[in-house]
Amino acid sequence: MASFLDNDVKYLAGVGEGRARLLASELGIRTLGDLLYFYPYRYLDRTKIYPIADVTAEQEGTYIQIRARVQSKRTLGIGRAQRLVVDVADASGQTELLWFRGAKWIEKRLEVGREYVFFGKPGFFHERMSIIHPEFESVDSPKASGAGALQGVYHTTEKLGSAHLGTKGIYHLVSALWPTAEKGITETLPEEIMRAQGLIGRKDALFNIHFPQSAQLLKAAQYRLKFEELFGVQLNILSKSAARTARADGFLFTRVGEFFNRFWAEKLPFELTGAQKRVIKEIRADTVSGRQMNRLLQGDVGSGKTLVALVSMLIAADNGFQSCLMAPTEILARQHFASIQKMTEGLGIRVACQTGSTRTAERRKILKALEGGEIDILVGTHALIEERVKFSNLGLVVIDEQHRFGVEQRARLWTKNNQPPHVLVMTATPIPRTLAMTLYGDLEVSIIDELPPGRKPIKTYLKSDAHRLAVWGFLKREIALGRQVYVVYPLIEESEKLDLKSLTDGFESISRDFPLPEYRVVAVHGRMRPEDKQQAMREFKAGHYNIMVATSVIEVGVDVPNASVMVIENSERFGLSQLHQLRGRVGRGADQSYCVLMSGVKLTKEARQRLETMVETNDGFVLAEMDMRLRGSGDIAGTQQSGLAFDLRIADLGRDGQLIELARRVAGGVLEVDPLLSSPANALLRTLSDRYAPRVPKDFSNIS
Ligand code: ADP
Ligand code: MG
Repeated sequence: MASFLDNDVKYLAGVGEGRARLLASELGIRTLGDLLYFYPYRYLDRTKIYPIADVTAEQEGTYIQIRARVQSKRTLGIGRAQRLVVDVADASGQTELLWFRGAKWIEKRLEVGREYVFFGKPGFFHERMSIIHPEFESVDSPKASGAGALQGVYHTTEKLGSAHLGTKGIYHLVSALWPTAEKGITETLPEEIMRAQGLIGRKDALFNIHFPQSAQLLKAAQYRLKFEELFGVQLNILSKSAARTARADGFLFTRVGEFFNRFWAEKLPFELTGAQKRVIKEIRADTVSGRQMNRLLQGDVGSGKTLVALVSMLIAADNGFQSCLMAPTEILARQHFASIQKMTEGLGIRVACQTGSTRTAERRKILKALEGGEIDILVGTHALIEERVKFSNLGLVVIDEQHRFGVEQRARLWTKNNQPPHVLVMTATPIPRTLAMTLYGDLEVSIIDELPPGRKPIKTYLKSDAHRLAVWGFLKREIALGRQVYVVYPLIEESEKLDLKSLTDGFESISRDFPLPEYRVVAVHGRMRPEDKQQAMREFKAGHYNIMVATSVIEVGVDVPNASVMVIENSERFGLSQLHQLRGRVGRGADQSYCVLMSGVKLTKEARQRLETMVETNDGFVLAEMDMRLRGSGDIAGTQQSGLAFDLRIADLGRDGQLIELARRVAGGVLEVDPLLSSPANALLRTLSDRYAPRVPKDFSNIS
């Protein structure tokens, strides 16, 4: 059904062809609806203005507003290094404003002697305050003196700005659109749900999101719109998962037989951790339920996921089913194969391994045995899915360290017209629970949150540059004990602005501080040829070097048990999940391992919080939750890995965890009564569910 909001934005008064093209290319706004659903990302509170002298270093990194007069302005530097410096003052004091981008455009808009309201995050250097890229508005402009205390700030770009489509320009367009658009806004949620959840109507919400009449109404508007989005997503996910479980076509692994029992009694070299036992129970319950299992197993590196997989595969074999275990790389596949062979020796279970480098003759033999039911467990790379290797009766697929959601979907393709195998996906990338609920909404989630006993937790320290000498002394003592050390830098080349230590600088200074012949230093970075990188890695592992200087690109697969110290330079520049991944490179041997986070003396509140959390905990899940709260979901590894995208304009899968849980409960309640949303009373919800179907990456879109 065509609606007024589907019309091209160019027909709106004040837009026209040229600006419409800009809106489309810069912000993806093509229709009037796109504009209506383009919400401010922040609001200016016009009631709170700080005297400059009252702003303290405590407020570094948080938004503040000042009202000040321009005293002078000057442009420094040339070309790309050009910047605009503006001195402003109020009755209490003065401060400096800086622009690195759009200097020319800003310069023209700021008049010396005139008063403006500036909004931005203050920074402090040697007690002196400055604000980089503040937003501003003349105090004479009607908006700045107007009664509406809250004013929306829209994302905009320099290009849009120069076409008079800065945040104010967009605000004017939405204002022009509203009187006509409001008539066409219809409710998308049933009344009972709105009443039960205390939600305001959709029209009210859209009005207040653009033109908040009060802080309270703005909050109600945000809540209502976020709920609608998350509720739509959960309805979509849960109804699909209900359809899957309703099929009841899962293989039954009811027997616990010879393979499992003998392995348990004779082979298992250690007591399982409580977490491993719990997860095995969960898998057992799934595989006798009559439904097909789709389970995501999360557990930090070293938590013993492989053993859980092996036990599950033995039970499959006890029930006469074949299993396959897929690893992301050939090396990992071979490693799994070797350890499984060793652990199952003498049990009579038949294990084979096929990877890209398996010879043709050998490959033929394996494929034939597989089809003939003479192999119980096949280990290989993800390529096994691509090739659609034929099994005689595949009952369980285990995918290790998956990096794309699509892998799991493809696994279901396997026996398209027959019964689908159970699927267990294992990952060491911690994904916060509420995020996993959405991204892997159709999967049950198991968590191993306990490491096998006897592991020494890595000790983490936060040290400022002032302690460098002491840190170097510590490295020398560790090296004297025969250990190896990583020193990681965030960037390869010196960045003018951020003044980061570059890898090359670092390599030079470390080579100077750790001289030959006692110390041997090697550098590894992303711009090296892969062969050279691999060789350096191999030589480091073999002990030819005691220090590896690297950028953050150190291979994920690097496993050097003798390396016991990870030094991370400029650690405040890294995100939490990256810091955790880097720290995971040590602590792989029997020795006590250490992680030293080097940082500048001055840290923003957020950076300090991040680094202190690293010092306090080794728990990847705690860190992932914190990361998500600090940064939102966009940057979380799992979000990108999943490749799924939801059309969310206001909700954030990271920050809105509580609301996700609520939306999920409400959606679950509705689906319990009407699993297919087929009753006429649920027509609105069916539309909502379709509206929030995830966009699956192209290459998987034909897979359901
Ligand atoms: P990951 O979860 O990273 O895949 P692995 O399964 O490779 O971890 O296990 C890491 C190491 O810990 C292996 O050497 C494995 O044999 C060992 N391990 C697994 N479970 C236990 C346990 N319950 N007690 C002691 N060691 C264990
Ligand atoms: Mg593993």
